[in-house]
Amino acid sequence: MTTTETTEQPVKKQFIASAVCPACEAMDTIRMWTVDGTQYRDCIRCGFADSLNEFGQSVPLELPTRVNQDKPKVKKAAKPMQFFPNPKLKKQDDE
Ligand SMILES: [Zn+2]
Repeated sequence: MTTTETTEQPVKKQFIASAVCPACEAMDTIRMWTVDGTQYRDCIRCGFADSLNEFGQSVPLELPTRVNQDKPKVKKAAKPMQFFPNPKLKKQDDE
């Protein structure tokens, strides 16, 4: 039995009637499909694409390049050693 064809089903993209693209505001250009329970949609006109997370919120699809890897790290400038007034040391110095 060869059931290789059933393992990967082609994604069915359905046009959403009267849906308006949030990017180019065109109507009837939005397609929607589901992959692994996640809803995706894209616009055939401008190429806008996003997905809906488990909360039904729009998650823009971005190239997984910088966003996931290069988190804006707050670079802490390597401070030169700071000497706080230390009474104990001061005292030792005085003695
Ligand atoms: Zn669009």
